[in-house]
This record gives sequence, structure tokens and C-alpha cells, in this order.
Amino acid sequence: QEGKNRYRLFDSEYNTNLVRYHEKLELIRMALDKNEFILYYQPKVNMKTGAIIGAEALIRWQSPGRGLVGPNDFLPAIENNVLSIELGEWVISSALKQIKLWNNLGLDIPVSVNISAIQLQSKDFATRLAHLLAEFPEVSPRSLELEVLETSEIGDLLQVSETMHTCIELGVTFALDDFGTGYSSLSHLRRLPANLIKIDQSFIRDMLIDPNDLVIVESVVALSRSFKRDVIAEGVETIAHGTALLELGCELAQGYAIARPMMATDIPDWSTNWHPDDAWLDLSTVNTS
Ligand code: C2E
Ligand code: MG
Ligand code: MG
Ligand code: MG
Repeated sequence: QEGKNRYRLFDSEYNTNLVRYHEKLELIRMALDKNEFILYYQPKVNMKTGAIIGAEALIRWQSPGRGLVGPNDFLPAIENNVLSIELGEWVISSALKQIKLWNNLGLDIPVSVNISAIQLQSKDFATRLAHLLAEFPEVSPRSLELEVLETSEIGDLLQVSETMHTCIELGVTFALDDFGTGYSSLSHLRRLPANLIKIDQSFIRDMLIDPNDLVIVESVVALSRSFKRDVIAEGVETIAHGTALLELGCELAQGYAIARPMMATDIPDWSTNWHPDDAWLDLSTVNTS
């Protein structure tokens, strides 16, 4: 199969991996059919005003045998398979359903969903998105944000940007996820129509101890401002991180210091009780006086 003049020793490890791969695909297919996937939601806030600006939907697999399984343990297995498109559509439609449920409770919480580059570059992505949106006429497309992984393989920037523009005409918005970790961050920033830049959590994590990371965070905040995009820090784990970000002029944040990803049913209570840390409020008073 690899052409003439080639030989390959029978590789049992290769064979076992292949079997495992197919078993894994089969498991995920069954999980989808049995409705074992669930979206958790992690709030995104404005640390200065205390506003809840939205929630990111993060997929988990409630496996009867293995408990709650995180996306890094099953998404890579289906990355290059049609299953990833199917699961991706399940995510979008579940998120829309959730927005509708929250709306019924009087809550207006925009939801961002992660989409893979493969999904975004798949044929008819915009048309399929339009169909999904049409299934929820009560939900404003403005409540849906799509997070595109900055690191993922974006082959044809022009084509992706066209698809994004078509989706934007439908009313949805885009964010560049894990910004700064890819090879082409600057071209993506310049050429892709995303309103929001998400600074990757690896830079946030060490920004208080590593001056290089601090400079990167500072630069991404400045870049976003120059390009008139919003900017949010992800992986904000401590109050001190939030304080440092506010001092740099980055008001939007997401991370354990604010909230861990939680079940959708916990969001209403959380959102009525959350308020910014006193340290952050003190800072706002100092800055405005
Ligand atoms: P991401 O989109 O960058 O999401 C942020 C990840 O960081 C989440 O991990 C979240 O639980 C975690 N996180 C949030 N705050 C903190 C913090 O303060 N500290 C630390 N250490 N971690 C924090 P999770 O849920 O395991 O998701 C991992 C990745 O899987 C996501 O990264 C995203 O790329 C992907 N993913 C999740 N759900 C979906 C989905 O529905 N579709 C697709 N295509 N990808 C998804
Ligand atoms: Mg994300
Ligand atoms: Mg991210
Ligand atoms: Mg990530």
C-alpha cells in the first residue's frame, strides 16, 4: 500500500494501537448515541464592573465505567474523524438549548463554544450553523460565540476568514482561543474576524514570577487594543493574578479564582451571588479617583 520497493515488518504495536483507536472511536460513537456527553459552564467576568459577560461551554463525558472524563482524554482520538463534526454540532445545539433555558429563567448569559479547526473548515459549516440556529428561533445568535483554537491547523486563512464572515452575518461572534501559542498568532489576529482574544493560560500562570510572560501578556493586551479587539485572560487562578491583570488594563477574566467549570444548573445561583474581590474593587476606586 505504501508503493513498490518498500517493506514493513509486521508491527504488532502498530496493530494494537490501531485496534485501540477503533475501539475508542466505537466507544465515543456509543457515548454520543447514549447521550453521555455533558457541557459544563465556566463563567467569564469583568473583574472591574462585576458583570458576568458569559460562560464557556466545556465538554465532559460521563462514562458509566470511568466517571467524568475531560476533553483532553477523548477529543484527540476523534480529531480527524467525522465524529468530531457530529460531536461539534451536538455541542452547539446543546449550548443553544441551554441559553434558551437560562433565558426562560430571566438570565441573559451568552455562551461560547469551542470549535475545532477541522469543524470550521468542514464543508458547509456556515450552512449547518444556520440550520442549528434556526432550530432555536427564540435564541439570539448574538448569544453564541465560537472559540477557534489559535494553535489548530488553519490551512487556508482566506477561506476560513470567509467562512467566519458568513457566520458573523448570521449574528454570531468569534474568539481566538489560546492566543499566543500558535505559529501564526499575528497573521491570525490581522486576518481573522474575531472580536475577542483569549490570552493563553500558560502565559497567565507564570506572569507573576516570569518577567518574560508578563511582557507577553502586556503585549497581547496592547495588541488587542490597537486592533480594537476585546481581550480576556484565561487560567486566572489567584486574586493576585486578577489584580496584576487589572493593572495592565485587562478587565475580562476566566479562571479558578472566579469559578471552576460547573453544571449548568449551578449557574443561576452562582451568578446571583458572585461579586468581584475587594482587592479588585479597591483598585478600581484608586484608578478612577
Ligand atoms: P480551552 O478552550 O482553552 O478551555 C480552558 C481549559 O482550562 C478548560 O479545560 C478549563 O477547565 C481549564 N481552566 C479554566 N480555568 C482554569 C484555571 O484557572 N487554571 C487551570 N489550570 N485550568 C483552567 P478543559 O475543560 O479540560 O478543556 C480543555 C480543552 O479542551 C479546552 O481548552 C478546549 O480546547 C477543548 N474543549 C473543551 N470542550 C470542547 C468542545 O466542546 N469542543 C472542542 N472542539 N474542544 C473542546
Ligand atoms: Mg476555549
Ligand atoms: Mg483556551
Ligand atoms: Mg486550551
